[in-house]
Amino acid sequence: APVRRGLLDVGPGRTADGHGVELLATIGGPDPLHGVEGVGLFRTEFLFLGRSRPPTVEEQRLAYREVLAPLVGRKVVVRTLDAGSDKPIPYAATGSALGIRGIRIARARPDLLRDQLEAIARAAADTGAAPWVMAPMIATPAEAAAFAATAREHGLTTAGAMVELPAAALRAGDIASEVDFLSIGTNDLAQYAFAADRHLADLADLVDPWQPALLDLIAHVAKVPTHIGICGEAASDPLLALVFTGLGIDSLSMTPQSLPIVRTTLAAHTLAQCRELAAAVRRAKTPAEARGTARRLAVG
Ligand code: PEP
Ligand code: MG
Repeated sequence: APVRRGLLDVGPGRTADGHGVELLATIGGPDPLHGVEGVGLFRTEFLFLGRSRPPTVEEQRLAYREVLAPLVGRKVVVRTLDAGSDKPIPYAATGSALGIRGIRIARARPDLLRDQLEAIARAAADTGAAPWVMAPMIATPAEAAAFAATAREHGLTTAGAMVELPAAALRAGDIASEVDFLSIGTNDLAQYAFAADRHLADLADLVDPWQPALLDLIAHVAKVPTHIGICGEAASDPLLALVFTGLGIDSLSMTPQSLPIVRTTLAAHTLAQCRELAAAVRRAKTPAEARGTARRLAVG
């Protein structure tokens, strides 16, 4: 039986008037977790980096089992390999930020995607968990459809698409028709919308999550009637969490240390206040104005 270690029960994320927003943890391996509703982004690159050949299905099964076992009964969203760009992998034909990365690996090495989905399915069967799976760097509805079909062939019934490319944000409705949920990756969405390397400190002002153009893209996606999460760094900012709640986002995944402050801030505002705040922020013309507006309107 799995050892349930360090999981304190917390209530679900809620506004002051009881509107639920799932507050989930972002993890990059079998990290110890305390008091989480679930995991909104489990990055799996750690299994693939720094080695000369891919991990076997069995190696992956054991690693996924370690993450899933203590979280049985809670939501866990496992993201398939996002190799490429800042996460180069020699045995996969990965390349630049504009090359083979994310789900595009299915073109060069479909076996890697299949093995990974099989390992996730076996770990789920071992533990009784029901993980959701999602693909990074989805650009088109066709890519989303192919991913969901492959996931279902492996018995994984809840498959989603990350929305982290502007093309995917603009056509999020069509992508949503092919999958069970969407998850907005604000780190890459900002990088590709502004053509600015997300790791370049000199361009940090362009990939600022308060940029009005980025908020427009997120607001456009938020209108799609499906389950929508946000799993980029922006979800860790308590004021942006209020904005996203006001836009109708269903779940926020963040670094676990940010969960308490986001939970407290959300609980201090009603859904109506979040909506007003989001509307006011969206009228801003600059990141500074947007942030200032949110600071002024937020309680406390
Ligand atoms: C993102 O792009 O916002 C995201 C969550 O994925 P990663 O940071 O792993 O690219
Ligand atoms: Mg990304």
